[in-house]
Amino acid sequence: MKRRASRPTKTYRFRLGYRPKADVWFGETQELFNRVAAFYFDVIEVHPGVLELADDKEALTALERLTHATAQNSQPVMPLAEAIPEPIPAMFRRAAIHAALGSARSFHSNLERWRKQKAKAEEKARAKGKPSKFHARPPIPPRRWNKSTVLYDGMWDEFDGHAVLLKVWTGDSWTRVKFQVSGRPVPAGWKLGSPQIVRQGGQWHLHIPTTCNGFKFPAKVEKQLADKKRTRICAVDLNINDSLAVCTIHSADGAVVATRFIRGGRELQHRRKRALGRVARKRSQTGVIREYQSDNAKLFRYVRAIDNDTAHRVSRRIVKFAREYGASVIVFEHLGHFRPEKGKYSKRGNEKRSYWLRGKIYRYTQYKAWEHRIITSRVNPRNTSRECACCHTLVARYGAGEAPIEFRPGAPLFLCPACLKRGNADRNASVNIGHRFIERYSTHLEKPQAVSAPPKGGAEQCSKEQGVSVSHGTSGERYGAQRTRKQGKPVKQARPSSEGADDRVGTAQEKREGPRPSRRIPRSLRPQRSGGYAANTPSAAYAGVPEEAAGL
Ligand SMILES: [Zn+2]
Repeated sequence: MKRRASRPTKTYRFRLGYRPKADVWFGETQELFNRVAAFYFDVIEVHPGVLELADDKEALTALERLTHATAQNSQPVMPLAEAIPEPIPAMFRRAAIHAALGSARSFHSNLERWRKQKAKAEEKARAKGKPSKFHARPPIPPRRWNKSTVLYDGMWDEFDGHAVLLKVWTGDSWTRVKFQVSGRPVPAGWKLGSPQIVRQGGQWHLHIPTTCNGFKFPAKVEKQLADKKRTRICAVDLNINDSLAVCTIHSADGAVVATRFIRGGRELQHRRKRALGRVARKRSQTGVIREYQSDNAKLFRYVRAIDNDTAHRVSRRIVKFAREYGASVIVFEHLGHFRPEKGKYSKRGNEKRSYWLRGKIYRYTQYKAWEHRIITSRVNPRNTSRECACCHTLVARYGAGEAPIEFRPGAPLFLCPACLKRGNADRNASVNIGHRFIERYSTHLEKPQAVSAPPKGGAEQCSKEQGVSVSHGTSGERYGAQRTRKQGKPVKQARPSSEGADDRVGTAQEKREGPRPSRRIPRSLRPQRSGGYAANTPSAAYAGVPEEAAGL
């Protein structure tokens, strides 16, 4: 999904200082806010035409005309004053109207979707002559309103980072009360939006959304990569093992400038697994748990908290590393779906959460990077951990002390059978992600030859017929073979590539029988490997890679 870029936003959270009756006031204000919002939701239900108006502004005007008596509009159709006797300040009313509009829009789009699904299912059933199997329940309008009070201008004032003046409903009158606030200061240049009074863990907080005011949008990626000298990108491979993220900095021509391992996965998994094991044991003691009933709330809260915390720490480090090297783009791979494996509850749950964590790290990195004008992008994840970053041969992946003969997913080391490069498998994946990104945009820069469609059929079939009876080829021959293939000529003689290499790598390669994933960019257009990568990533010099193993 593509979203239009917008200015960076952030919400700052301030704790509201203690006042003897504040709890009652905030409670009363929130209750009133929700009552007004619920009233307007009902008005919208009676006059659904409001939702078809061009924007919220027009809808707001229409709703006020329906409910609010003024000199010109002395007889509103559904007067608010009759439904709710309390005096409602105009800005309080408007904030509640917007809350109601949001809920109504969401409810109606859900309802619309449900109707479409139902109609589709019924039509399908009718075509087959069977009764419809569609049993999903329709969405229902909110039964309970529990929104936080939103304060528009006039309801809050004199905010200076240490104190704020809030207008609250005490239960019988509106009063302005000064509160001390504590929290991280909002940096200069960030514009404050309308805050919310939020209750969290028995405490009242002020959540202030902010927008970066003088934000200059970064240049398009194509443009940035055209500047080969200065542009740098940071490629990130997210893992579910100890190295949660492996980052490599690439220059625009593909050379790897720096690497960083962000670790802490093992400890996180250990803590998480222990908590999930406790959940499992408690569940076995309790017996049956009703559906939709939450259990072990405290333990799950703990698990969520450590995950969230880790995602914040890791994403912050990724952005910091990218900034250290002046990278203007951070590249991830698209994340695959989680396929649960058999095992104990704690193991499955742990793995699932490790997968989720990657998504979280990605999302947090995205917003944290954008604030520093760093673009986030994602590339196709296909074979990023299976191919050699130097020559794209499928690699063997193995653990220390094992023979490098097969691809064991998750193993820490890799060995390329063609160019004999070896090293850390996750770093190899990270380098691949970076290359893939640069390759993607090099097709935009050097269009003429690059757009030719990948040759399907001919060459591939031909090579299949040829079978495995070919001699082991060197990587040099392999390039030759590939280039001919790209030009669409049938390759009869030179097919030493996959099969030849496969023999040496052994069983793992059997998994990917069939045509090699053909790449769209002719090899000549790809960044030069000879000098760049190899020189910068000597396999033996692995110990020299800076690592960030510090206490996650
Ligand atoms: Zn290689």
